[in-house]
Amino acid sequence: MNQKTYTPAYCVWELTLKCNMNCLHCGSRAGQARDNELPLDEALQVADNLIELGCQQLSLIGGEVFLYKGWEKIARRLTDNKILVNIITNGFLMGDKQIEEIKYSNISNVIISIDGMAENHNRIRNNEKSFSHIEKTIARLNQENIPIGVNTTLLDTNFSDLDELNKFLIANNVKIWQLQLANPMGNMSDRREQLISIENIKKLTAFIRQRRRDNRMSVYTGDNVGYYDEHEKYIRGNPGNINYWAGCQAGLHVVGIDSIGNVKGCESLYDDTFIEGNLRNESLSEIWFKEGNFAYNRNFDPSMLTGKCKDCDKGAFCRAGCRGACFFTQGEYFENAYCVYKE
Ligand code: SF4
Ligand code: SF4
Repeated sequence: MNQKTYTPAYCVWELTLKCNMNCLHCGSRAGQARDNELPLDEALQVADNLIELGCQQLSLIGGEVFLYKGWEKIARRLTDNKILVNIITNGFLMGDKQIEEIKYSNISNVIISIDGMAENHNRIRNNEKSFSHIEKTIARLNQENIPIGVNTTLLDTNFSDLDELNKFLIANNVKIWQLQLANPMGNMSDRREQLISIENIKKLTAFIRQRRRDNRMSVYTGDNVGYYDEHEKYIRGNPGNINYWAGCQAGLHVVGIDSIGNVKGCESLYDDTFIEGNLRNESLSEIWFKEGNFAYNRNFDPSMLTGKCKDCDKGAFCRAGCRGACFFTQGEYFENAYCVYKE
Protein backbone atom coordinates (compact mmCIF):
# COMPACT_ATOMS: atom_id res chain seq x y z
CA MET A 1 0.00 0.00 0.00
CA ASN A 2 1.19 3.52 -0.75
CA GLN A 3 2.66 5.14 2.38
CA LYS A 4 0.63 8.28 1.64
CA THR A 5 -2.63 6.46 2.44
CA TYR A 6 -1.74 6.57 6.15
CA THR A 7 -2.76 9.57 8.26
CA PRO A 8 -1.83 10.18 11.90
CA ALA A 9 -5.49 10.88 12.67
CA TYR A 10 -5.03 10.24 16.40
CA CYS A 11 -1.90 11.25 18.28
CA VAL A 12 -0.88 10.62 21.87
CA TRP A 13 1.84 13.07 22.85
CA GLU A 14 3.89 12.72 26.03
CA LEU A 15 4.99 16.29 26.82
CA THR A 16 7.17 15.44 29.81
CA LEU A 17 8.11 12.41 31.85
CA LYS A 18 8.08 14.56 34.98
CA CYS A 19 5.45 13.36 37.43
CA ASN A 20 4.40 14.03 41.00
CA MET A 21 3.41 10.38 41.50
CA ASN A 22 5.00 6.97 41.29
CA CYS A 23 2.26 4.55 40.27
CA LEU A 24 2.92 0.86 40.51
CA HIS A 25 1.62 0.21 36.98
CA CYS A 26 3.23 3.23 35.28
CA GLY A 27 4.22 2.04 31.80
CA SER A 28 6.78 4.79 31.27
CA ARG A 29 8.32 4.75 34.76
CA ALA A 30 7.55 8.47 35.00
CA GLY A 31 8.99 10.63 37.77
CA GLN A 32 11.97 12.68 36.59
CA ALA A 33 11.84 14.66 33.36
CA ARG A 34 13.99 13.14 30.60
CA ASP A 35 17.20 14.98 29.72
CA ASN A 36 16.66 17.44 26.91
CA GLU A 37 12.87 17.36 26.58
CA LEU A 38 11.39 19.37 23.70
CA PRO A 39 10.98 23.00 24.80
CA LEU A 40 7.88 24.97 23.91
CA ASP A 41 9.19 26.45 20.63
CA GLU A 42 10.14 23.03 19.26
CA ALA A 43 6.89 21.51 20.51
CA LEU A 44 4.90 24.19 18.67
CA GLN A 45 6.68 23.22 15.42
CA VAL A 46 5.66 19.61 16.03
CA ALA A 47 2.08 20.80 16.55
CA ASP A 48 2.22 22.60 13.18
CA ASN A 49 3.47 19.43 11.51
CA LEU A 50 0.63 17.42 13.06
CA ILE A 51 -1.86 19.96 11.72
CA GLU A 52 -0.34 19.69 8.20
CA LEU A 53 -0.50 15.90 8.35
CA GLY A 54 -4.23 15.88 9.03
CA CYS A 55 -4.30 14.93 12.70
CA GLN A 56 -7.90 15.08 13.97
CA GLN A 57 -7.69 14.11 17.61
CA LEU A 58 -4.91 14.30 20.15
CA SER A 59 -4.30 13.42 23.79
CA LEU A 60 -1.62 15.18 25.78
CA ILE A 61 -0.08 12.97 28.46
CA GLY A 62 2.87 12.86 30.86
CA GLY A 63 4.27 12.18 33.32
CA GLU A 64 1.90 14.89 34.41
CA VAL A 65 0.81 17.37 31.71
CA PHE A 66 0.40 20.23 34.20
CA LEU A 67 4.14 20.03 34.97
CA TYR A 68 5.05 21.01 31.38
CA LYS A 69 5.22 24.80 31.24
CA GLY A 70 3.25 26.06 28.25
CA TRP A 71 1.18 22.91 27.61
CA GLU A 72 -1.89 25.10 27.14
CA LYS A 73 -0.22 27.01 24.29
CA ILE A 74 0.46 23.76 22.44
CA ALA A 75 -3.13 22.64 23.02
CA ARG A 76 -4.43 26.02 21.87
CA ARG A 77 -2.38 25.88 18.65
CA LEU A 78 -4.02 22.53 17.92
CA THR A 79 -7.58 23.43 18.92
CA ASP A 80 -7.34 26.68 16.90
CA ASN A 81 -6.77 24.37 13.95
CA LYS A 82 -9.85 22.27 14.64
CA ILE A 83 -8.09 19.34 16.30
CA LEU A 84 -10.01 17.80 19.21
CA VAL A 85 -7.62 17.79 22.15
CA ASN A 86 -7.88 16.36 25.63
CA ILE A 87 -5.41 15.88 28.44
CA ILE A 88 -4.90 12.84 30.62
CA THR A 89 -3.97 13.76 34.18
CA ASN A 90 -3.58 12.11 37.57
CA GLY A 91 -5.94 14.80 38.89
CA PHE A 92 -3.75 15.78 41.83
CA LEU A 93 -3.19 19.41 40.88
CA MET A 94 -6.30 21.48 40.09
CA GLY A 95 -6.08 25.03 41.34
CA ASP A 96 -6.91 28.39 39.73
CA LYS A 97 -3.80 28.20 37.54
CA GLN A 98 -4.75 24.85 36.01
CA ILE A 99 -8.37 25.93 35.48
CA GLU A 100 -7.20 29.08 33.70
CA GLU A 101 -4.88 27.02 31.46
CA ILE A 102 -7.65 24.54 30.63
CA LYS A 103 -10.00 27.35 29.65
CA TYR A 104 -7.36 29.06 27.53
CA SER A 105 -6.48 25.79 25.74
CA ASN A 106 -10.05 25.07 24.52
CA ILE A 107 -9.59 21.36 25.11
CA SER A 108 -12.72 19.24 24.87
CA ASN A 109 -12.35 17.41 28.17
CA VAL A 110 -10.07 16.48 31.04
CA ILE A 111 -9.47 12.76 31.48
CA ILE A 112 -8.55 11.72 35.02
CA SER A 113 -6.92 8.39 35.80
CA ILE A 114 -8.89 6.62 38.54
CA ASP A 115 -7.97 3.03 39.29
CA GLY A 116 -10.61 2.01 41.80
CA MET A 117 -12.18 3.32 44.97
CA ALA A 118 -10.05 5.11 47.56
CA GLU A 119 -8.17 2.18 49.08
CA ASN A 120 -7.18 0.46 45.85
CA HIS A 121 -6.63 3.67 43.94
CA ASN A 122 -4.31 5.12 46.60
CA ARG A 123 -2.39 1.86 46.87
CA ILE A 124 -1.88 1.67 43.10
CA ARG A 125 -0.98 5.35 42.92
CA ASN A 126 1.38 5.06 45.90
CA ASN A 127 -0.21 8.12 47.44
CA GLU A 128 -2.68 8.11 50.32
CA LYS A 129 -4.10 11.51 49.34
CA SER A 130 -4.62 10.81 45.66
CA PHE A 131 -8.30 9.84 45.77
CA SER A 132 -9.33 12.73 48.00
CA HIS A 133 -7.51 15.16 45.67
CA ILE A 134 -9.39 13.65 42.74
CA GLU A 135 -12.71 14.20 44.50
CA LYS A 136 -11.81 17.87 44.90
CA THR A 137 -10.62 18.05 41.29
CA ILE A 138 -13.89 16.58 40.02
CA ALA A 139 -15.90 19.04 42.12
CA ARG A 140 -13.89 21.96 40.76
CA LEU A 141 -14.17 20.84 37.13
CA ASN A 142 -17.91 20.38 37.51
CA GLN A 143 -18.19 23.81 39.08
CA GLU A 144 -16.41 25.25 36.01
CA ASN A 145 -18.52 23.18 33.57
CA ILE A 146 -15.46 21.45 32.16
CA PRO A 147 -16.38 17.98 30.82
CA ILE A 148 -14.73 15.12 32.71
CA GLY A 149 -13.68 11.70 31.52
CA VAL A 150 -12.03 8.89 33.45
CA ASN A 151 -9.52 6.22 32.45
CA THR A 152 -9.35 3.11 34.60
CA THR A 153 -6.48 0.66 34.30
CA LEU A 154 -7.41 -2.80 35.49
CA LEU A 155 -5.41 -5.36 37.42
CA ASP A 156 -6.75 -8.38 39.27
CA THR A 157 -6.47 -6.39 42.49
CA ASN A 158 -8.85 -3.53 41.58
CA PHE A 159 -11.33 -5.44 39.45
CA SER A 160 -13.80 -5.88 42.30
CA ASP A 161 -14.20 -2.08 42.58
CA LEU A 162 -15.87 -1.73 39.19
CA ASP A 163 -19.50 -1.64 40.34
CA GLU A 164 -18.85 0.91 43.06
CA LEU A 165 -16.68 3.00 40.78
CA ASN A 166 -19.41 3.02 38.15
CA LYS A 167 -21.83 4.48 40.71
CA PHE A 168 -19.25 7.01 41.87
CA LEU A 169 -18.62 8.24 38.31
CA ILE A 170 -22.32 8.58 37.51
CA ALA A 171 -22.93 10.47 40.77
CA ASN A 172 -20.07 12.83 39.90
CA ASN A 173 -21.22 13.75 36.41
CA VAL A 174 -18.42 11.95 34.58
CA LYS A 175 -19.25 11.85 30.88
CA ILE A 176 -16.73 9.36 29.47
CA TRP A 177 -15.23 6.20 30.97
CA GLN A 178 -12.53 4.14 29.32
CA LEU A 179 -11.54 0.77 30.77
CA GLN A 180 -8.20 -0.71 29.79
CA LEU A 181 -5.87 -3.45 31.01
CA ALA A 182 -2.45 -2.84 32.52
CA ASN A 183 0.23 -4.14 30.18
CA PRO A 184 3.35 -5.60 31.83
CA MET A 185 5.63 -2.74 30.79
CA GLY A 186 7.54 -0.15 32.81
CA ASN A 187 6.88 -0.51 36.55
CA MET A 188 4.34 -3.25 35.84
CA SER A 189 6.91 -5.50 34.22
CA ASP A 190 8.13 -6.36 37.75
CA ARG A 191 4.61 -7.18 38.98
CA ARG A 192 3.24 -9.66 36.48
CA GLU A 193 1.51 -11.63 39.20
CA GLN A 194 -0.96 -8.75 39.59
CA LEU A 195 -2.01 -8.68 35.93
CA ILE A 196 -5.64 -9.35 35.17
CA SER A 197 -6.73 -12.96 34.60
CA ILE A 198 -8.51 -14.15 31.47
CA GLU A 199 -11.54 -14.95 33.68
CA ASN A 200 -11.79 -11.31 34.71
CA ILE A 201 -11.30 -10.07 31.11
CA LYS A 202 -14.32 -12.18 30.15
CA LYS A 203 -16.33 -10.57 32.96
CA LEU A 204 -15.08 -7.16 31.86
CA THR A 205 -16.46 -7.37 28.32
CA ALA A 206 -19.86 -8.29 29.78
CA PHE A 207 -19.59 -5.40 32.26
CA ILE A 208 -18.75 -2.89 29.53
CA ARG A 209 -21.62 -4.09 27.35
CA GLN A 210 -24.02 -3.67 30.26
CA ARG A 211 -22.77 -0.18 31.13
CA ARG A 212 -23.15 0.90 27.48
CA ARG A 213 -26.70 -0.43 27.56
CA ASP A 214 -27.36 1.57 30.76
CA ASN A 215 -26.41 4.68 28.76
CA ARG A 216 -25.52 6.74 31.86
CA MET A 217 -22.21 7.88 30.34
CA SER A 218 -20.13 7.03 27.25
CA VAL A 219 -18.22 3.87 28.13
CA TYR A 220 -15.32 2.79 25.92
CA THR A 221 -13.20 -0.33 25.70
CA GLY A 222 -9.42 -0.01 25.69
CA ASP A 223 -7.66 -1.46 22.66
CA ASN A 224 -6.09 -4.26 24.69
CA VAL A 225 -9.47 -5.67 25.83
CA GLY A 226 -11.16 -8.42 23.79
CA TYR A 227 -11.61 -9.90 21.21
CA TYR A 228 -14.57 -11.43 19.35
CA ASP A 229 -16.48 -12.90 22.24
CA GLU A 230 -20.30 -12.68 22.41
CA HIS A 231 -20.06 -9.03 23.58
CA GLU A 232 -17.59 -7.83 20.93
CA LYS A 233 -19.98 -5.99 18.65
CA TYR A 234 -21.50 -4.03 21.55
CA ILE A 235 -18.36 -2.70 23.23
CA ARG A 236 -16.44 -0.62 20.66
CA GLY A 237 -16.76 2.77 19.05
CA ASN A 238 -19.57 5.13 19.81
CA PRO A 239 -22.22 3.63 22.11
CA GLY A 240 -25.32 2.51 20.25
CA ASN A 241 -23.37 1.54 17.12
CA ILE A 242 -22.27 -1.97 16.17
CA ASN A 243 -18.50 -2.10 15.79
CA TYR A 244 -15.94 -4.84 15.61
CA TRP A 245 -12.27 -4.76 16.52
CA ALA A 246 -10.45 -3.93 13.28
CA GLY A 247 -6.81 -4.37 14.25
CA CYS A 248 -4.13 -2.25 15.88
CA GLN A 249 -3.85 1.16 14.21
CA ALA A 250 -0.34 2.03 15.42
CA GLY A 251 1.55 3.55 12.50
CA LEU A 252 -1.55 3.36 10.28
CA HIS A 253 -3.80 6.01 11.82
CA VAL A 254 -2.24 6.40 15.28
CA VAL A 255 1.07 7.99 16.22
CA GLY A 256 2.89 8.49 19.52
CA ILE A 257 5.44 11.17 20.32
CA ASP A 258 7.55 11.22 23.46
CA SER A 259 8.98 14.16 25.35
CA ILE A 260 12.37 14.09 23.59
CA GLY A 261 10.85 13.77 20.12
CA ASN A 262 10.95 10.02 19.55
CA VAL A 263 8.16 8.90 17.23
CA LYS A 264 6.42 5.55 17.58
CA GLY A 265 3.24 4.03 16.21
CA CYS A 266 1.57 4.43 19.61
CA GLU A 267 2.59 5.83 22.98
CA SER A 268 1.58 2.53 24.60
CA LEU A 269 4.61 0.94 22.95
CA TYR A 270 7.11 1.86 25.66
CA ASP A 271 10.14 0.10 24.24
CA ASP A 272 12.96 1.54 22.14
CA THR A 273 12.46 -1.14 19.52
CA PHE A 274 9.35 0.76 18.40
CA ILE A 275 11.13 4.10 17.79
CA GLU A 276 10.91 4.99 14.08
CA GLY A 277 12.81 8.27 14.22
CA ASN A 278 13.42 11.44 16.22
CA LEU A 279 11.97 14.87 15.53
CA ARG A 280 15.32 16.53 16.11
CA ASN A 281 16.77 14.66 13.12
CA GLU A 282 13.78 14.43 10.79
CA SER A 283 10.39 16.08 10.50
CA LEU A 284 7.28 14.18 11.54
CA SER A 285 6.24 13.93 7.87
CA GLU A 286 9.58 12.37 6.94
CA ILE A 287 9.32 9.80 9.72
CA TRP A 288 5.64 9.07 9.06
CA PHE A 289 6.05 8.48 5.32
CA LYS A 290 9.47 6.80 5.33
CA GLU A 291 9.43 3.46 3.50
CA GLY A 292 9.93 0.61 5.95
CA ASN A 293 8.75 2.46 9.08
CA PHE A 294 5.94 0.97 11.20
CA ALA A 295 6.56 -2.29 9.33
CA TYR A 296 4.88 -4.44 12.02
CA ASN A 297 1.52 -3.04 10.93
CA ARG A 298 2.10 -1.63 7.44
CA ASN A 299 3.67 -4.86 6.17
CA PHE A 300 1.49 -7.25 8.15
CA ASP A 301 0.64 -10.59 6.66
CA PRO A 302 -1.39 -13.29 8.47
CA SER A 303 1.51 -15.72 8.05
CA MET A 304 3.31 -13.64 10.72
CA LEU A 305 0.83 -14.71 13.44
CA THR A 306 2.22 -17.07 16.06
CA GLY A 307 1.03 -18.98 19.14
CA LYS A 308 -2.71 -19.06 19.66
CA CYS A 309 -3.18 -16.36 16.99
CA LYS A 310 -1.65 -18.59 14.32
CA ASP A 311 -4.39 -20.02 12.11
CA CYS A 312 -7.08 -18.06 13.98
CA ASP A 313 -10.06 -17.47 11.67
CA LYS A 314 -10.13 -13.81 12.82
CA GLY A 315 -6.39 -13.32 12.30
CA ALA A 316 -6.46 -11.50 8.95
CA PHE A 317 -8.42 -8.51 10.31
CA CYS A 318 -7.69 -8.81 14.06
CA ARG A 319 -3.93 -8.97 13.44
CA ALA A 320 -3.42 -10.31 17.00
CA GLY A 321 -5.11 -7.39 18.76
CA CYS A 322 -3.13 -4.73 20.57
CA ARG A 323 0.51 -4.72 19.49
CA GLY A 324 1.59 -3.48 22.91
CA ALA A 325 -0.27 -6.28 24.70
CA CYS A 326 1.39 -8.83 22.37
CA PHE A 327 4.87 -7.43 22.85
CA PHE A 328 4.77 -6.98 26.60
CA THR A 329 2.85 -10.11 27.56
CA GLN A 330 4.48 -12.55 25.12
CA GLY A 331 7.62 -10.83 23.84
CA GLU A 332 6.16 -11.35 20.36
CA TYR A 333 4.56 -8.95 17.88
CA PHE A 334 1.74 -11.18 16.68
CA GLU A 335 0.59 -13.32 19.58
CA ASN A 336 -1.85 -12.07 22.21
CA ALA A 337 -2.06 -13.47 25.74
CA TYR A 338 -5.07 -11.34 26.72
CA CYS A 339 -7.44 -12.50 23.98
CA VAL A 340 -10.62 -14.19 25.18
CA TYR A 341 -11.64 -15.55 21.74
CA LYS A 342 -9.64 -18.76 21.89
CA GLU A 343 -10.06 -19.43 25.59
S1 SF4 B 1 -6.55 -15.45 18.86
FE1 SF4 B 1 -5.29 -13.70 18.17
S2 SF4 B 1 -5.95 -13.30 16.05
FE2 SF4 B 1 -7.52 -14.58 17.03
S3 SF4 B 1 -9.02 -13.16 17.84
FE3 SF4 B 1 -7.56 -13.56 19.48
S4 SF4 B 1 -6.02 -11.94 19.32
FE4 SF4 B 1 -7.15 -11.99 17.41
S1 SF4 C 1 -0.54 -0.69 20.31
FE1 SF4 C 1 -2.48 -1.15 21.34
S2 SF4 C 1 -3.13 0.83 22.20
FE2 SF4 C 1 -1.60 1.24 20.59
S3 SF4 C 1 -2.75 1.56 18.69
FE3 SF4 C 1 -2.19 -0.61 18.77
S4 SF4 C 1 -3.97 -1.57 19.69
FE4 SF4 C 1 -4.12 0.59 20.17
